[in-house]
Amino acid sequence: MSQKTINDLQDLQYFGEYGGVNPSVSDSSTYTFLSAKTMFDTFEGNTEGCYLYSRHSSPSNLYLGEALAALEGTESANVTASGMGAITAVILQLCNAGDHIISSRTIYGGTYAFLKNFLVKFGIKTTFLDITDLDAVAAAITAKTKMIYCESVSNPLLEVADISALSRISRKNEIPLVVDNTFSPLSVTPAKLGADIVVHSLTKFINGTSDCVAGVVCGTTELCLSLKDVNNGAGMLLGSTLDSLRGASILKNMRTLHIRIKKHSENAMFLAKNFEQDGLPIVYPGLSSHPGHMIMEDQMNTEYGYGGIMTIDVGSLKNANALMELMQERKLGYLAVSLGFYKTLFSAPGSSTSSEIPMEEQQAMGLGDGLIRFSIGLDDDIERTYYSMKKCLMDLKILNDTAVNA
Ligand SMILES: *Cc1c(COP(=O)(O)O)cnc(C)c1O
Repeated sequence: MSQKTINDLQDLQYFGEYGGVNPSVSDSSTYTFLSAKTMFDTFEGNTEGCYLYSRHSSPSNLYLGEALAALEGTESANVTASGMGAITAVILQLCNAGDHIISSRTIYGGTYAFLKNFLVKFGIKTTFLDITDLDAVAAAITAKTKMIYCESVSNPLLEVADISALSRISRKNEIPLVVDNTFSPLSVTPAKLGADIVVHSLTKFINGTSDCVAGVVCGTTELCLSLKDVNNGAGMLLGSTLDSLRGASILKNMRTLHIRIKKHSENAMFLAKNFEQDGLPIVYPGLSSHPGHMIMEDQMNTEYGYGGIMTIDVGSLKNANALMELMQERKLGYLAVSLGFYKTLFSAPGSSTSSEIPMEEQQAMGLGDGLIRFSIGLDDDIERTYYSMKKCLMDLKILNDTAVNA
């Protein structure tokens, strides 16, 4: 795969009023009409270029949606007020009471809780399985299955889904493959590999400045219109609408996404390689020791690298907490959830972002309580960072304790 993804995005240009180089922000919730007839037609959803009310659509959000559709190579995209707003809208749009979903068991904690706990209200059942076990996926499909759901690179275990293979299974059974690509924008383009719907938390890498919460659903024009339908669209009726001012600021941040992703990947790769050599149990899709490495190689857009997330298991929650506190003290990053910031962020998912997943299930999927997830920042001198991190590990005697061959 090539640079085409980013070319499409860069060729999308919008001008503001007075020839501004950024599009004007639509700072309005409602829009006037010269004639009552046009207002009626717009309400019915059949007047191009007219806006009625900003929960339905607004110029700023449409610009951002177009940019995200270009990023993911889909026909269209709807932006939402959070990643969960995108994920829940898609699921509720495609599933009726009593339906069935197949999902990877290693997914974002909020998505897991929604599928497992919330959907019980509608009698919608989810089978959670190891998404790398393709036979298990095929075998779990029933007449009621309405989607296969996974993350391209999973949170927090960095499992790599074989999107082409999953898409062959989903197409054969005429059900959509829904992929959350939050961990790997640009590095992986799921729609080009056969995913039908791609969702993101824009909160993370795509916005990249940890200053807002937002999401997107990328898919066919038909799906995007159905989500906005005034009578039965989950996007329109559940109301997780992104504010236009935020839509405009996220679009501006997206203009540097390719540079940021390359740097996040380069830095993460450097640390992963070196810490692996030091004998630490490190998980990063760019390492040949990673079980999903070959699949990642096959499906990635090489120039963007393997992404900015890596994990290290330091053996115990006590070690994890001590390391994170010391790293923060030494200005190596912040003890914080979320990802995709200029500064390195770290958290222990077992007790934070994945705490929705019951302890025995965490253990079954290999999520130990000493696991630290790192979102590697845009550090200019990553070698210096490496030595400072290593010093923390040695000062706490973690490097000697966990190292297998150091
Ligand atoms: C953060 C995250 C979400 C949820 O997004 P919000 O913007 O916080 O609602 C969903 N999926 C993944 C993989 C995430 O990391």
